[in-house]
This record gives sequence, structure tokens and C-alpha cells, in this order.
Amino acid sequence: MKEEIKPEELPSKSDFIKWWNSVLSIAEIIDRRYPVKGTFVWLPYGLKIMKNLVKEWEKLFEENGIQEVYFPLFVPLEFAKKNEEWFEGFKEDLYLAHPYTNENEKYVIRPTGEPAMYPIFALWIKEGKLPIKIFQTVSSFRHEGKTTHSMIRDREITFWYEIHTAHRTKEEAEEEFNKHLKINDEIWEKILCIKPIKAEKPKYLVFPGAEGAIEYYTILPDGRLLENGSVNNLGQAYAKKFDLYWIDEKGEKHYCWQICTGNGARYLVAAFSIHSDERGLIIPPKIAPIQVIIIPIFKKENREKILNEAKKIKDVLINHQIKAEIDEREEITPGEKFFIWEIKGVPIRIEIGEEEVNKNFYTIFRRDKKERYKIEKEKVVGFVKNLLEIEIPKYLFENSIKFMQEKIQFANNIDETMEIIKNGKVAKVNWCGSKKCYEDISLIEKGIEAIGFLLEQKEGKCIICGSKTNRLTLIGRVY
Ligand SMILES: [Zn+2]
Repeated sequence: MKEEIKPEELPSKSDFIKWWNSVLSIAEIIDRRYPVKGTFVWLPYGLKIMKNLVKEWEKLFEENGIQEVYFPLFVPLEFAKKNEEWFEGFKEDLYLAHPYTNENEKYVIRPTGEPAMYPIFALWIKEGKLPIKIFQTVSSFRHEGKTTHSMIRDREITFWYEIHTAHRTKEEAEEEFNKHLKINDEIWEKILCIKPIKAEKPKYLVFPGAEGAIEYYTILPDGRLLENGSVNNLGQAYAKKFDLYWIDEKGEKHYCWQICTGNGARYLVAAFSIHSDERGLIIPPKIAPIQVIIIPIFKKENREKILNEAKKIKDVLINHQIKAEIDEREEITPGEKFFIWEIKGVPIRIEIGEEEVNKNFYTIFRRDKKERYKIEKEKVVGFVKNLLEIEIPKYLFENSIKFMQEKIQFANNIDETMEIIKNGKVAKVNWCGSKKCYEDISLIEKGIEAIGFLLEQKEGKCIICGSKTNRLTLIGRVY
């Protein structure tokens, strides 16, 4: 049973959620019809993109001395209750599991890594294993009260990575914190080709006792902000709850300092929605399951000849580690194939027809710029490599900056702020950073929030209290 949406029915991106749901179905990223709210089925093409991204972050983490582990899905209830403040804040979202035959044996289903990991960290630390630097990529489960949207807000949060570290000193933890920021920048800029927004979370919004956090944000085509990963300096807040301490040579007890960092499929929400146009998705080359799609354009009489030429160029590309495939199907026209692979966002298309067999060139189409080139056969590998490694990532990255800039407008007061938001954008404003003014911003209208402090500064007056400040924030609707 296939969802009844045809490529030509892709809705406009201005109706974002409608567009999002359609493009995920037509491009065969996921199947949304699984009958449990907040869950979906990953389809082969979508799953390959997701796993390519996972492979990239695994490589980066390992290179930085962060090793992969796996913690069980079941978390003992007493572990979850160890940190009362955390438990109180989280319990509405928790799922409990028990054996069918014994309702008294209850487990929390992993909502996040801390409650499962930190009691075990305590054992490892007693065995002298410090620093600890680990990560896992798993599903986490939260009974979301808010409206769910596939990959944006789910109840099963799939392919969620969490890095958790524990250190002897504050300085060592801070160094690790900066490393995680660098890793995240690399994922965003080099792999996803996006310049995200970074914001520093004010102290009163981080977990009591924690030192601070940097949150990443992206803006979606409808002008809503999406929190997209965070790097958290937990300080000693959790270490004190979970007894993570070490004893120095004088026998003195010191609590550990901790960092935790996480994100997951939401990276793809940004990549899919920012790098897309009226024709569909544009997958960043590094995570594209197919980087070059070869479309043979043949009739019955020249089919063999043209397919041979297509296979020849495919083999050459594959020998150069370029992921190339041929769409040999006969039941659909080349035009339909162009359509389908454009919606799926394959970065490059090579068209092989009678002319390409007889003359010394291939026709190459670049999905991002929608440009066609005739390239001499012996230069094709170099040309394609340059597109995949340099030209396309650069174009996508610059476009992401433009996309974000066009969505942000400076506002001097609340009226201007509301006008900007009403027009589907995000307002940049001066804000003193006080808790009172933060709360007042969320009282302006339901669903409107300020993110933390932007890393850039500008002299001005807080739009709420009018006090002089050089700090800035973004105000908008949030997912
Ligand atoms: Zn203020």
C-alpha cells in the first residue's frame, strides 16, 4: 500500500508541515502510517541517509577519544529517582515497562542517558577509570505532550546520540566542552553544509548546579525555531547526586565535572528543509546514499548500446569511490526519472543518450544550482569529484547562511517583534537576560519564546525593561 501522493503534488514550502509530511513520503524517507503516535518507519533510502550521518559522527567522536558503548533500554526505577529534581521534571514524560505477568517489576524505558549511565560511572570511577568519555546512538522514549511531527518531535526519538564525560577537574571538563562545540561545528558545517545559530543558555534555565550550555538552533521554512542539539557543562550537579567522586593522594574526596552533548535525527530536519526547493530535497553529498544517478535515455533499438555506456561511466565513478547508480527501469520515462531523483535530492545526474555515446561528452546536471553542463568524458571524474567535495557543499553552506539571514529581522520593540513573527520570521532583539524579562517574553503570546544569548553583541536597550545592554537574543515561535 503506497501513500497516494505524486511528485507533482508537492505542496508549497510555505505550508511547511504539509510540505514536510509530503516530501518525507514522496522521497521515501519514512513511512508515517505506523499506528503509534510520535513514531514512524524508516524506509531504506531515508535510513541510508541517517546511517551515513551516524557513521560520520561516530568517526568524529572516536577521533576525539570518545568511545561507543551501549546501555540497556530498561532503567531501574531507583536509578531514575536518584536525582529527585530530574525525576520530578521528567516523570510526566516517562514510559514504564513491566513483564506481562508481573506488574510490580517496573522499569523506566530510557528517556535519556543519565539515569542509566551515571550509577555505572560511579563503579567505573571507583575502579580508577577517569576520565570517562563515552557515547551511544540509540532510541530514547518520551511521552511528549506537545503535538508530534515526524523527526521534529517524536515519542520514540530515533538515532539519538549522547556523549557523556566525567573529569577530575573543572579545567579538563571545560576543555572537553570546547571540543564538543568544535565537533558539532564540524558536523554542521562540513557534513550538513549548514551554519546553525548558537545560543548560550542563561543560568536559570540550566539544571540546578550546572555551569551552562550552548544550544544550537535552526530556523525552518515557516519561520519557527527548532532547537537542534546542545552541549551542556553539567558542572558537579549530577556528580553530587550520583556519587561520582575520586580520592586524591591525601585521601580527600573530589566530585567529578561532567559534560554531556546530544542530538540526532533533528540534524536531518534542518538539512532536508533548508537545502530544498520547489523540486524537493537536496541531500548534502557526504551523506547522500546515491551521489550520482545515471539516467540512460534509450529506445528499443539502442537500449543495449546506451546501457553499456551508462555502465562504463558508473564503473569509472565507483572506482573513484563515488556512489553512482543507474536507473535502468523501462516502465517509466526519463522525464519521470528526473522528477523522482530530483525530489529525492540526489546531488548529481548524468544523462546518457545517443549523442553521449557517439560524441566525447556527458551531460551532467547539478541538483543544487539546477545547471546542466556538457563535460568531456575524460574530465568527468574530476568534474564530479570537485562538485561533490567542494562546489556543492560550498553552495549549500552559503545558501544556508542566506536562508537564515532572510528569516531574521531586527526589532526595536514588542510591536515590531510581533509584526516580524506574524510575517513568518524571527525577531532579533536586545535583551538584558534577566529571568523576569525572559518570562515576560513568553507571556507576550502562547508559543513565543526567546532562545538564549546569541554569541554576537550589539549596544541597545532590552525590549522588555528598557535597560541598557549589549546582549542579543532571538524571539520567535518554536517547535
Ligand atoms: Zn530586561
